[in-house]
Amino acid sequence: MPKIMLLGPPGSGKGTQARVIKEDFGIPVIATGDLLRKNIAERTALGRAAGSYMEAGGLVPDYLVVDLFVSRLAEDDTKSGWLLDGFPRTVPQADALDKLLEERGEKLERVFLLEVPKGLLIRRITGRRVCPVCNSVYHIDSMPPKEPGICDFDGAALITRDDDDEETAENRIDIYNELTSPLVDYYESRGVLTKIDGTIGTERVEQKIRATLA
Ligand code: AMP
Repeated sequence: MPKIMLLGPPGSGKGTQARVIKEDFGIPVIATGDLLRKNIAERTALGRAAGSYMEAGGLVPDYLVVDLFVSRLAEDDTKSGWLLDGFPRTVPQADALDKLLEERGEKLERVFLLEVPKGLLIRRITGRRVCPVCNSVYHIDSMPPKEPGICDFDGAALITRDDDDEETAENRIDIYNELTSPLVDYYESRGVLTKIDGTIGTERVEQKIRATLA
């Protein structure tokens, strides 16, 4: 079972692709953004600490996210494979991941970088709707649910994320460029990076990922 990561700016399709790969390979998705939103909804101490950073489109401090990630990876379902979505997002997080995997005797097999130009990212983010129950991702134009405003999978009312307005999206993209994009070199220099054009459609992106893992 694969041990892989999706890297790319907000709106590049990581969440959509994560759902597809999860079904394909039967591996758990570890999405720190989803875990943080769950903590906010449940009003935990972590949720209270993380909320203001997320609302502004900033990054949650490394020590909080690393702790959250460590506890999630320690769960039973991650033994034979996993897909990371949205973690790591900084070089210190990537170093922490390295250390953790070394302790577990595991290796990150491949990192898929989804590349999408900025103008398209903003359009994708502002049209995005998500299911608060199962985290499925939709787009009002390019990937609408069967029934408007309703999740195909569980019938829940779809929501717009608090950080999906245009101004916050711009900020998140800037932060990606500043703090997360150095991870492209980080993983490229280790020979585990595969770049994929994220504008070619969900199915073709999925095919490329499958072909690389085959
Ligand atoms: P996402 O759902 O991946 O777009 O993440 C939403 C927000 O959660 C981000 O804009 C950050 O504020 C926060 N977040 C998610 N993952 C991380 C991470 N690895 N490091 C720091 N902040 C994160």
